[in-house]
Order: sequence, then C-alpha cells, then structure tokens
Amino acid sequence: MNSLRLVRSAHSGVSDVDVRMMERAIRLARQAALDGEVPIAAIVYRGEEILAEAANNRERAADPTGHAEVVAIREAGRKLGEWRLDGCSMAVTLEPCPMCAGAAVNARLGRLVYGATDPKAGACETLYSIPSDVRLNHRVEMFGGVLANQCVELLRAFFRERRAMQKKAKETARAADAVRRSA
Ligand SMILES: [Zn+2]
Repeated sequence: MNSLRLVRSAHSGVSDVDVRMMERAIRLARQAALDGEVPIAAIVYRGEEILAEAANNRERAADPTGHAEVVAIREAGRKLGEWRLDGCSMAVTLEPCPMCAGAAVNARLGRLVYGATDPKAGACETLYSIPSDVRLNHRVEMFGGVLANQCVELLRAFFRERRAMQKKAKETARAADAVRRSA
C-alpha cells in the first residue's frame, strides 16, 4: 500500500504503556492477516489494564462495521458495564476512519494512540479531524505515528501478498481456459 506514509515518530505524551499496547496490537493484526483480514488491530486499556482487544473482523463476521476499533470499543463498554470510556485509551495500528473516529468520540474515549496515517480514510488528521473537532461534544486526545513503520509494513506486506495471489489465480484460470479451448 504505497499511499500509506509515515508522518512522524512518537512524540511526547506517549508512554511506555502506549508503546507496549501498540506492539500488542501489531501482533494481533499480524494474526488477523493469516485469517484473511486486513491487518489492523486495536486495544482499549485503562492504565495498564487491557479492557478489550480486537482485529478487523469484517470478513469473518461479514460485518460492514467490523473495524478493529468499533469491535474493541463495544467490547470495552460491555466489560465495564458502562458506555463511557473517558478514563480509557485506545491503541490502533492505523489512523481511524470516520466511523471509528466517531465511535471514539461517542464513547467519550480519553486518549487515542495510532500508528500509520491513512491518506484514504484517515479521520484524525489526514482527511478529517473528528476527535479534535470543537463542534462535537467531546474531544479525544490524540497521538499519531507510534511505531508507524511497523504498522505500515504490516499493511504493505498484506497487500503485496494479496496482489501476488490474485495474479497467480488469474494465471491459473487463464491456463485452465487454454486447456479447455484446446480440448
Ligand atoms: Zn474504521
């Protein structure tokens, strides 16, 4: 995914816990790729306590809203028995889209830590700035670019492999077609 870019490295305000949570999200995302999901994962935590973690499950759950952030936010609310996540942070490997940034605002999430920026759908700083929009009733503190290199590489490798598989499938179909024609 060439359009993914690395903007900056982690800056002040990012704790060791945030970095550890991002590392955990990266491992979870890598696992999701093996299940055919786009490798994006999110962890919701309070202090050092993990409340919920999820990877994209759009393919497996056939759920159009099955982005890692929405799944993790929902689970964190269930775990706390409370829809307000104001004392919580979320680490996610890719800059959230409008739906997920909106979910973070609606959850009154305290902090959002993300890895790679997303030029195609990023709604935190790239295309929109939903978590910091003063017209909305809640602002989420944001820290972007955390372990961004690793998050970008994960996505690049996934799409590179998927393209290679699609190419191979096309070649196989073409070969089968040639055999049929000559029969
Ligand atoms: Zn999303």
